[in-house]
Order: sequence, then structure tokens, then C-alpha cells
Amino acid sequence: MRDSQGGLFRNQCFIGGRWVGANNGASTMVFDPATAEPIGTVPHAGAEETSVAIEAAATALAAWKRTPARARAGVLADWAHLAEARIDELARILTTEQGKPLAEAMSEVGSTIAYLRWFAEEARRIDGRILQAPAADRQYLVMREAVGVCAAITPWNFPSSMIARKVAPALAAGCTIVLKPAEQTPFSALALAALAEEAGVPAGVFSVVTGDARSIGQQMCGSTTVRKLSFTGSTQAGRVLMEQCAGTIKKLSLELGGNAPFIVFNDCDLDAAVRSAVAAKFRNTGQMCTCANRILVQDGIYDRFTEKFLAAVRTLQVGNGLKEGTTQGPLIDERALHKVEQLVDDALTRGGKLLSGGRKHVLGGSYYEPTVIGEAVPAMRFAREEIFGPVAALYRFATEVEAIALANDTEYGLAAYLFSRDQGQIFRVLHALEYGMVGVNTHLIADEAAPFGGVKQSGLGREGSREGIDEYLETKFASIQL
Ligand code: ADP
Repeated sequence: MRDSQGGLFRNQCFIGGRWVGANNGASTMVFDPATAEPIGTVPHAGAEETSVAIEAAATALAAWKRTPARARAGVLADWAHLAEARIDELARILTTEQGKPLAEAMSEVGSTIAYLRWFAEEARRIDGRILQAPAADRQYLVMREAVGVCAAITPWNFPSSMIARKVAPALAAGCTIVLKPAEQTPFSALALAALAEEAGVPAGVFSVVTGDARSIGQQMCGSTTVRKLSFTGSTQAGRVLMEQCAGTIKKLSLELGGNAPFIVFNDCDLDAAVRSAVAAKFRNTGQMCTCANRILVQDGIYDRFTEKFLAAVRTLQVGNGLKEGTTQGPLIDERALHKVEQLVDDALTRGGKLLSGGRKHVLGGSYYEPTVIGEAVPAMRFAREEIFGPVAALYRFATEVEAIALANDTEYGLAAYLFSRDQGQIFRVLHALEYGMVGVNTHLIADEAAPFGGVKQSGLGREGSREGIDEYLETKFASIQL
């Protein structure tokens, strides 16, 4: 991919308002997962460059924090406006580095813009409280202030919206932030940085450092200047980062893995359940932490659900995301493909029934066939682990109590889905599910207005909604003797 003057395809880091390479000149190649062709290089930066970005964020903090919230909101709104004007370009960069169909990339960039707008509005609503003091000549004030310098680490599955979900509330709150995007998908982050610069985000308020994850992460976590880390990624990496942040008692937002149950009860609207199950399982080639990892279907509807589900899955079009009509792109890389193959093999040796797919796709590379496995049971590896691929596992259950027990039998607690027409059942199950988000008769749960996040080992904190900006605000209490 080549950049034209003023284009959004950047191959340098954006640190302290300047476009720079790694100090030692090192760079890393990024590949298109659809073709395995190189797309371009980004600097292979490390601890030193991260430290410069953190210092720049610390220098920029005082003025940005003092900038009236309405002015910060204006900058975010301008950023959103510029992104909207270049949505096609942003979506193409996203599909080229990540592989998802262009229509999904457009929708993701749409949500990037929505987050920028939402938090521009939230900036205007930051407020405090006056409490009842114990004496007439005392005043109690509760104020909300920016946390300070923040750091963010984002994954490759949503390389654009994950950035907006962290950077927009940080900037809205008056924080400054240094971002490390995933090594597979740095270009969406750099494109957003280019637009932030154009929108007038002051130098140092938002920096992007690409390169060595470990050394950048260690520098971020170990820094006494950085007061908060926001991370989205695997539970495994989240644990490591949480430990590394212990030394400086950093605030943490962690959006980690999931193992979403998708519960289909006998009396549900079958067609709606099938449509949602396909979307919740196969969107982004199954590479989402909210993916329907376990589809639990009640006995009485199991056969009819399976038949309709298979028919819908067979309509999926596997191919290059840039090609018109593609509905399922490649997996992000060979490692991801290998993991999916292992999980499928494990399920089949433990009695799983292969109903569709189950192989690498004829297109080669990291393409995998949309796959459905019936008669899944909890002893299979994918009942415990995130599949992160286009493999649907169908489990059978008999009673509501059994469904709830199966659904909660996991260390994760991010998203769950349930399909039923019985109001009593909906509320009983909704209350019993140990999850941060529940879709009832819908798979649509992610929205800028809604708090996104999980319980148990799926993480800490929420993104989006009012909670999303709270994560970047600290409470200061003042007791004033008049
Ligand atoms: P995945 O295995 O799906 O790539 P990860 O959790 O490993 O998920 O990656 C998500 C993000 O976390 C990426 O930006 C990656 O570079 C980063 N990351 C992973 N491990 C570390 C680490 N030890 N220190 C800093 N960043 C890390």
C-alpha cells in the first residue's frame, strides 16, 4: 500500500506530535491476511520511544486538563467529522491489515466515529456534587478530575473502534494517552492519529508507539508517570499486565476474553435465533470476545435449529474482504488457524459430530471453512477456551436450570445471549447469568451508549456509556471551612 500526500496510510510512529521512526531505525513488516502479501512497515520501537511518548504526554497534560471541557469536546467532534469524511479510506486500511469484509470494516469505522461523538458529548457533562456538611460554615465538594497520563494497549480484532473506545473518553476527561496498537494491525491506529493531528489534538496529548509489545508494555506499566492502563486482549496477557502494574498501583481497565453462551429455548422465535446465532458466531470470522462460543439448544428445538442454522451457515461467502459479496474473511494469521484446527480435532475425537466444514478452506492461507459441530459436550476443549474462529459448537440441554448451570460453568463472564418468548423465563435466566452483558432475543450488545465489559476473569471496568468516561476520572473531595 502506498501513501499519497495527506493520505492516511502512515508508516511512522506518532510521538509528541511528530512522525518518527524507531531510534535504531528498525522496522517490522505487516502482512495482509487475505493474500499474505506485505502491506508496509512500521517502526519497531521499544522502551526508549515509549518513555519519550510518556514524557510528552506528561508535558501536555497540564494544558489539556485546563482546556475547558467544551473545547476538548470540540476537538473530538472535529476528529469525528474528519474520520467520517474519510470513512472509505479508513475502512480499506482496516480490511487490508485485518481481513474482515469491507462492509464490516465500514461498520467498525462507523462505531469509531460514534465513540468519538459520544465522548465529545460526555465531556460536556462531567460534573460534581455538593454534599451536606456537618456545620453551617463548612462546605463539602466532590470534584471529578482527569486521572492524568494514561496508556492503552489494543488488539487486532477491532483495530479501529477499540482505539476510539479508549482514547476518546481519555481525551474527553482531560487525560493524555499513549497507545500501543497490535503488531498485526498498526495502520488503523496510525491513520486515526493522522486525523487527530489534523483535528487539532495538541502535541503529546495522543501518541502511538508501534513495535515490541513486551518492552513497550513494561515501560508503560512500570512508569510512575502513567496513572492508568486500559487493555483489551487475552486474559493471559491481561494477567501479565495487571502484575506489571502492581508496582505502581495503577488504575486498570481490562477487557479480556469471553466464552459466551448463546441459549436457545424451545419456545423462541426460531428464525430470529438462527439469524442472531450466525451473526454472533461468524462475524469477524469468529474473532470476537463476545462471539457465541457455546450455542446451547434445548432438546425440543435442537433438530429444527440445527437444520436452519446449517442452511444459513452454508450461505456464508468466504474470500478476500475487499471482494464484493464476501461475508467471511481469513483468520488473522497461521497461528490462529492452527489453534482452530486443534480445537476442532479435539472436539471430533471426543464425540463431536461434524455437520459442516471442519477444514482449511480451498483458498489456502489462513482461510478456514465455516464449521458446525453438533452434540458438543463440556469435556471438549472449546467448552472452556475461546475458539476465536469460524467454528460453531452446538450443545444440547433439557431444562432451564441445566442451561443456567452450563452457561455459568466458565471462568469468563463477558457476554451471554438468550432466546425465549417466555417473559418469566427471560427474567429468571437474565438474573441468573453471571455476565457483564446479556443479549435477550438479539445479538446486538455493543453500542457507544451502552456499558461494555465483563465480570469474573473477563475483566475490570466498562467502556462506552457514562461508565466509559468515569474510568478516566478521579474523585477529589474538598472539606472547606468558610
Ligand atoms: P492475541 O493473542 O489475540 O493477539 P493478546 O492479548 O496477546 O491477544 O494481544 C492483545 C494486545 O496485547 C496486542 O496489542 C499485543 O501486542 C498486546 N500484548 C500481548 N502481550 C503483551 C505483553 N506482555 N506486554 C504488552 N503488550 C502485550
